[in-house]
Amino acid sequence: MFTNQTEPVEDLCPKCRTNRPYTLRKKEIQKKINGKNFHFQISAAYCSVCGAEMSPPGLIDYNIKEVEGQYQLMTTDPFS
Ligand SMILES: [Zn+2]
Repeated sequence: MFTNQTEPVEDLCPKCRTNRPYTLRKKEIQKKINGKNFHFQISAAYCSVCGAEMSPPGLIDYNIKEVEGQYQLMTTDPFS
């Protein structure tokens, strides 16, 4: 649902305390896996009205897929 978003979507904004449209932007996070630091770009949803970060349903699952995909790319050795 987050990859081919065409219609404006709304969810509860924690600051406005009402449903607001949100926009998705990439943000960088750092994760330590097996003692190594990795940087990942994940999607974050921001309220279009006040800019607060929101957590619409499905976003966490989508973030996990993003991290897994990027981790696989980073750890795949092209010369093996
Ligand atoms: Zn808001």
